[in-house]
Amino acid sequence: MSIQKIGVIGAGQMGNGIAHVTAAAGLDVVMCDIQQAFVDKGLATIDKNLQRGVDKGRMTAEEKAAVMGRVSGATSLKELAGCDFVVEAVVENLDVKTKIFAELDSVCRAGVILATNTSSISITKIAAATERPELVIGMHFMNPVPVMKLVEVIRGLGTSEETTKATLELAEKLGKTAVECRDFPGFVSNRVLMPMINEAIYCLYEGVGEPEAIDTIMKLGMNHPMGPLTLADFIGLDTCLAILEVLHEGLGDPKYRPCPLLRKHVEAGWLGRKTGRGFYDYSK
Ligand code: NAD
Repeated sequence: MSIQKIGVIGAGQMGNGIAHVTAAAGLDVVMCDIQQAFVDKGLATIDKNLQRGVDKGRMTAEEKAAVMGRVSGATSLKELAGCDFVVEAVVENLDVKTKIFAELDSVCRAGVILATNTSSISITKIAAATERPELVIGMHFMNPVPVMKLVEVIRGLGTSEETTKATLELAEKLGKTAVECRDFPGFVSNRVLMPMINEAIYCLYEGVGEPEAIDTIMKLGMNHPMGPLTLADFIGLDTCLAILEVLHEGLGDPKYRPCPLLRKHVEAGWLGRKTGRGFYDYSK
């Protein structure tokens, strides 16, 4: 089946990024969220990010208008009925995702691939919520999507060869480098990244260093482009906690225990950049 129209569920930081690169690659996109206000915010973010490209001379105003013209918004999954491929990018919560996949299964045509951008949740479990496990796959984009090259492609237990091939091809068409890995909690990226972020939060919790010191040590000492606490704020502390819970529960090893300070921040609603406060203050 030729893939011309993509459905993206979730207009948050990942969803609008996926919609952005998809439209920029010449495909039509329907971006769906639960409220029109969230859809509008996602569309405004795509517009702002494309405008940056225009300002820097990387694209013309006409090209930007053409990309924006390929993105439409929706507030019901039913509006994804005409899509040839769907990528889900809603909150990192198994119940929310399985509910969406069960509904997508009845909305989308037979043969349409249903991909999830989950950071850590079992693809096999999400696939089991549908009658088409062979067509369900992990397509894990990195943040910010328009900038980052990698897409981690994760096959569930029942994912077919054809589905994997089509997903790898789509990722390449979007200008990404796709790398396959197996369906274990956190896959490769977050299984390696999150323990480091968690340890940085423990360093803060135990008073080993101030946030700036921890980040500067890791930036200059390890040549990381961003310190781990800045990165956690960028990812979203709710997402970091959800991933660590999946690692902790799924692998059963206490080394993945989320730091209590991370929990406290999430309880306070200090979720990082997206709420204006995390380990740092972004309100100004
Ligand atoms: P976000 O909080 O920015 O956005 C999530 C969006 O999903 C919100 O706009 C919310 O309204 C919407 N949503 C919630 N329930 C919905 C539903 N039932 N139907 C439609 N929309 C719904 O989160 P995010 O950072 O974009 O993360 C989304 C997914 O991408 C998560 O699974 C996360 O683990 C994964 N991910 C995140 C990052 C990152 O760095 N933040 C990187 C890779 C993957």
